[in-house]
Amino acid sequence: MQDHMETRAVHCGETRGGAYDALTTPIVMSSTYTFDNTQAIREFVEHKAERSPAERYEYGRYGNPTQTAAERKLATLDGGEQALLFASGMAAITTSLLTLLSAGDHLVILGGVYRRTRTFASQQLARWGVDVSFVCAEAFEEAIQPTTRAIFFEVPTNPTLRVPNVEKIIASAKRHAMATVVDATFATPVNLRPLELGADLVIHSATKYIGGHNDLLAGVAVGSAEALGPIEEARGILGGVASPLDAYLVLRGAKTLPLRVRRQNESALRLAEFLKQHPAVSRVHYPGLPDHPDHAVAARLMSGFGGVVSFELAGGSDAASTCIDKLEIPHIGPTLGGVESIAQQQALFISRDPAKRAEYGIPDALIRYAVGIEAIDDLIVDLRNALRGLPTTGEV
Ligand SMILES: *Cc1c(COP(=O)(O)O)cnc(C)c1O
Repeated sequence: MQDHMETRAVHCGETRGGAYDALTTPIVMSSTYTFDNTQAIREFVEHKAERSPAERYEYGRYGNPTQTAAERKLATLDGGEQALLFASGMAAITTSLLTLLSAGDHLVILGGVYRRTRTFASQQLARWGVDVSFVCAEAFEEAIQPTTRAIFFEVPTNPTLRVPNVEKIIASAKRHAMATVVDATFATPVNLRPLELGADLVIHSATKYIGGHNDLLAGVAVGSAEALGPIEEARGILGGVASPLDAYLVLRGAKTLPLRVRRQNESALRLAEFLKQHPAVSRVHYPGLPDHPDHAVAARLMSGFGGVVSFELAGGSDAASTCIDKLEIPHIGPTLGGVESIAQQQALFISRDPAKRAEYGIPDALIRYAVGIEAIDDLIVDLRNALRGLPTTGEV
């Protein structure tokens, strides 16, 4: 009966007729769970393996009823057997990669990943003897070595919204017995479900679209019970669990995820089309535009092109700063995916040093505009005002 994502987002994962017959899932603010007597502990330890988590909890770092409900909902949305909730997207990424990889293994990361994922791989994993190659999607086959254990990439990438050929990469990874880990934060389960295409693990920063209200930090890893078992064990040791309150906020946010994302898809496409014909804009990056290099792949794999549009100003970095400062509706800041639109000149967040910025390949004149759920007509009027008087492509 629950054929559609809108229905599953509202109902899945939550049990009816629970405590006090409350309709909403309670926030169970308990760090520990007690036992009646010594015999109860003996039985718990003996039957731990065969017990489903919802039947008995032990200590908050290993699980919590609110967290379990959020995990069940998110697993359903991504078409996975199981999901694990974490304290942040980075906790999901680091715990998963630390579990998958050992000293001597090689990891391939396709270009344009989240800055902290890149730093984690190049600075932390390297210290523990994991060899990492950063390559562009076109060159990944050549980067594969006999020790390559996993490939990690994002869809779409940040901030130029490239959409790698997910099917081709997964097929090649399978031929080489490598695990495929996809950070699909920008796509959300509404627009892309990499597990259905054969990926081993999907990760989201739930801080973004899944939470959707700029009021929480959380991450999630989704996959088979077999793939997630060791990661769950590692989470209990490394300790990056989400709090019960954040688990509740994830549950609440996820209920409107399909509504919000479909609206954001529509608005971002309109915004991209508006920017495309504006004389002060030299380049628009949005996979929904027919001239985006990955438009065909995105149109085939994704059911929407996402809520982020990046664009470059003909007048360069100063014009981008002027535009950002004149925008009245979006906030200026470093996140995306919430109900409030957020715009940022992304390069400025990296470093004041132009050489450091160049390392990440993000042009200074680029603005990343993450649309919220405001009326698109208002957002366009606001953007038109902010672009007024800036140098045009013909002038520079
Ligand atoms: C934000 C983000 C992360 C990190 O998530 P946090 O919840 O901030 O830890 C990872 N990947 C992508 C693509 C992101 O946008």
